[in-house]
Amino acid sequence: MKFDVRRDFDERLLQVEASDLHRFLTGPTVFDLRRNGVQPFFVSTLLHGNETSGWDAVRRFIADTSDASIVLFIGNVRAAAQAMRHLPDEVDFNRIWRQQPWRDDLNDLLERYQPWCGIDIHNNSGPNPHYSVITDQHESTLALASIFSNRVIFTHHTLDILAHAISPHCPSLTVETGTVDDLQSAQRAYDLLTRLNEIRRVPMSPKHELEAYETIGIVKVEHENGSLENFPQFDETLKESSFSTLAAGSPFVNCLPSGWRVSVLDPAHSLDLTDEFFEFRERRAFLKREIVMSMFTHTPILALQDCVCYFLTSTSLARG
Ligand SMILES: [Zn+2]
Repeated sequence: MKFDVRRDFDERLLQVEASDLHRFLTGPTVFDLRRNGVQPFFVSTLLHGNETSGWDAVRRFIADTSDASIVLFIGNVRAAAQAMRHLPDEVDFNRIWRQQPWRDDLNDLLERYQPWCGIDIHNNSGPNPHYSVITDQHESTLALASIFSNRVIFTHHTLDILAHAISPHCPSLTVETGTVDDLQSAQRAYDLLTRLNEIRRVPMSPKHELEAYETIGIVKVEHENGSLENFPQFDETLKESSFSTLAAGSPFVNCLPSGWRVSVLDPAHSLDLTDEFFEFRERRAFLKREIVMSMFTHTPILALQDCVCYFLTSTSLARG
């Protein structure tokens, strides 16, 4: 997969909704929008086709900012046309960046353009406060994260995400801006881009203390035959409980129909931690231990394509 690299940004794109981009772009597309002599920053959006706030922010930023110097990557326009994270026959565009040819193509791109930071813009699939995901604890990464939010999630294992693949080249973040139907989500991304364009380099240190969490588990749901029927009933309170502490004994699944399985994997996807986190009684599941939860989704297709939620723990950052 070679990216389609374009030097010119068709002004008509500024008016085009994410769902219509496929009429103009044939696939993953890079816009080289550097200004002479100004080191660019890298920004990507629509790796997940249903997460459109990033595109709305980027096109407004381009329209408003005559001195912008960016390299823009637009991911999955085919999935955006269907308002899906990814199409059933496709890979997840934010889970491929240690694989070829994606890895080499990205490295070539970053070596050519030398961005000073990288930002990958996403929406949350459930009501979460906005936050960044970071994959290292370098001072520069924390400083960059502090521009967007005081909340960060650190993850050792990265599931081949784009921001991790960028991080050897420059400080990088995945930003989760809020849900797609929240107008503030695009505004938050826009404000970040505007701020980055003003500062043009990574700050020396975080501008405030960061509230940090570490991923300790990924909650998966699946049916033994791949069915979507009779989706399990998760506890109603969960969707409003992001970044809340859930006590040991809290109900998590209120009805687990036959054929369905809810499990917990470690962040590297190599260990099954289900027994450490869940106790199953009469088709229900209860938490065995206290956790903080993020990114919970009730939407079956999103839960199946990615995960139900993440289990987190509060952590202090090493800063080094
Ligand atoms: Zn996403």
